[in-house]
Amino acid sequence: MTILACDLGGTRMKIGVVREGRVLAQTTAPANSKADMATALSMLQNAWLHLLRELKLEVRDCAGISMAFPSLVDVKSGRVLADFGKYANAVKFDFRAWAQENFQSPLALENDARMALVGEWRHGAGRGSDNVATITLGTGLGTSAVIQGRLLRGQHGQAGVLGGHITVHYGGRDRTCGNIGCAEAEASTAFLCDMAVSLPEWNSSSLRKLATLNYASVFKQAEAGDACALKLREHSVRVWGTLAVNLIHAYDPEIVILGGGIMASAGVILPAIRGYVRKHANTPWGEVRVVAGELGDTAALLAGEWLLQDYFSIST
Ligand SMILES: [Zn+2]
Repeated sequence: MTILACDLGGTRMKIGVVREGRVLAQTTAPANSKADMATALSMLQNAWLHLLRELKLEVRDCAGISMAFPSLVDVKSGRVLADFGKYANAVKFDFRAWAQENFQSPLALENDARMALVGEWRHGAGRGSDNVATITLGTGLGTSAVIQGRLLRGQHGQAGVLGGHITVHYGGRDRTCGNIGCAEAEASTAFLCDMAVSLPEWNSSSLRKLATLNYASVFKQAEAGDACALKLREHSVRVWGTLAVNLIHAYDPEIVILGGGIMASAGVILPAIRGYVRKHANTPWGEVRVVAGELGDTAALLAGEWLLQDYFSIST
């Protein structure tokens, strides 16, 4: 089938037309996640119509719409459950009514980390296994799991996807989510500045001279021997390794897939996390494979066909 797919990130919307596990056409648009939902969606609608014209397709050629959303989602009702400070009024918004009105099409909505996992599981690094966990390393930390071929969702839509808020440091950093010492507050781009300035090495660090601090510069300066960057790199990799071990102990995966923008430094991150997992995960059955995602930005788009099929089977 042919579908309209999108991944509504906090900073970028990824938009595509997908058929039989292939992205036929795609584009991105800046996401003003402070805007209201209707404004963001009208931009999305224009982008889809443009892609369809390029492909010489019509809306009626598409079986439905899949949408990956950066928040907790109730798949059955197609509603966003929690306000994460992105897309004002998303919680009250009726996505299905919008899709019906503008496209006369069914719409399936799911959490973005779950969609990234489904994409990798069906079409990417998780192919061939029915037991997969993912960690997305980015502005925040996204997680998700497939156990024995079933996508973990839970009664309230939050199973598997709150791994970034699992405590990795008892008595650690106390930040916005309500928990203390969670993985995201300990090592994610959103908290990198806080982490850096709290280190005594910060004052003499070359990182201070940079206009924006991100993990790409931390890994680069660590390579050059900067003491602050080395400390940040060491700390962050241990946090992500700890999170990987926690997910392995919770979900029993055969593969842990690491994705997200920070994985541009996979050459350092992968061996470090593999080593940490080998040392600290309790898996008497064998060794968990820790691998990089293969699909990048297209993972959540490619999950759309699976999501719509799942939606049709739930709703009929
Ligand atoms: Zn948290």
